[in-house]
Amino acid sequence: MRIGCGYDSHRFVEGRPLVLGGVDIPHSRGLDGWSDADAVTHAIIDALCGASGIGDIGALFPPGDERYRGVSSVQLLSSVVGMVRERGLGIVNVDVTVVAEEPFLSPHVLEMRRSLALPLGVDTERVSVKAKTNEHMGFIGRGEGIAVFAVALLE
Ligand code: MG
Repeated sequence: MRIGCGYDSHRFVEGRPLVLGGVDIPHSRGLDGWSDADAVTHAIIDALCGASGIGDIGALFPPGDERYRGVSSVQLLSSVVGMVRERGLGIVNVDVTVVAEEPFLSPHVLEMRRSLALPLGVDTERVSVKAKTNEHMGFIGRGEGIAVFAVALLE
């Protein structure tokens, strides 16, 4: 068994869609970033990278590389799942905590789990997504951005 942890944070900006876990979520602002800025998927990618020892998302898909401008992060996740499998490893489960003051994410959790289960190649019940606020504290509490924590277990 091998375990990995991942973390990501992105800033809210005007004029971009909000994509989390591969799901378009209706909101007045989106997250800034080189790709689609899907912080949930980015944290999972780093958890998989950590568990399998293949580096990190920034090394694999460097920001500034034109190939990844506006790319769907779910595509990047599929690529990383392929690298994990090439190393003879399988995904046991993934657990994610999204910390966001807004929007209210609970109604979107099941769709995110289903969306992520496809590229991960596992049943939806092996993909957990939990949504929390930061109790109005700090940059998350002020609505400046969101943070995501993820762990992945491989066998
Ligand atoms: Mg990111």
